[in-house]
Amino acid sequence: LNGQRMDANVVVLGTDNVGKSALIVRFLTRRFIGEYGDIESFYTHNIVVDGREQTLNIWDAPYSQQDPSFETLLCEKRLQWADGLVLVYSICDRASFNTVSRLVHTIKTTKDFLGFEKMPIVIVGNKRDLHHRRTVLSEEGRLLALSADCQFYEVSAAENYHSVLMVFHGLVDRIRESRVSV
Ligand code: GDP
Ligand code: MG
Repeated sequence: LNGQRMDANVVVLGTDNVGKSALIVRFLTRRFIGEYGDIESFYTHNIVVDGREQTLNIWDAPYSQQDPSFETLLCEKRLQWADGLVLVYSICDRASFNTVSRLVHTIKTTKDFLGFEKMPIVIVGNKRDLHHRRTVLSEEGRLLALSADCQFYEVSAAENYHSVLMVFHGLVDRIRESRVSV
């Protein structure tokens, strides 16, 4: 049975205020609280996916205020530690989408960082409930994910628990596939 068990380290990245903490807390507690502060947090959570028990370690990493270069970011220990990434933008925040776009292309194309191009990544457009303030089309997110071989979901941490569940379960699936294919 122990052989069936899997540990997966997940880092959630994105600029400030896109809802990274809201997504994680929603996934862990099913609740949307509204305010989360800016504390770097680490969670361990057991889930069952397809009948198999998984331990997810989730790192809620606030975006570095110093706006590091992407090369710096890639060298960081959180990326070395990660088995998979959740890259979050807000559909109401064009700049947050641009950041995710740059980040994903850097990770997928930088040959210096061996293995990172195979890192399972889920791109998440959050705050779907604020569609009246949308500045990033669904299609843009979908195309970005397609071009970088990532999964893509538009979600609302505020209003849709199921969509948030899909993000984390989808990533666990990808991490498991990537291990099988090694
Ligand atoms: P972080 O800085 O990326 O961790 O963002 P937070 O999780 O702290 O969320 C930033 C703000 O956006 C908070 O006021 C949240 O209540 C709000 N927020 C997060 N997710 C959603 C969402 O899906 N819809 C709406 N309307 N607001 C959200
Ligand atoms: Mg946060």
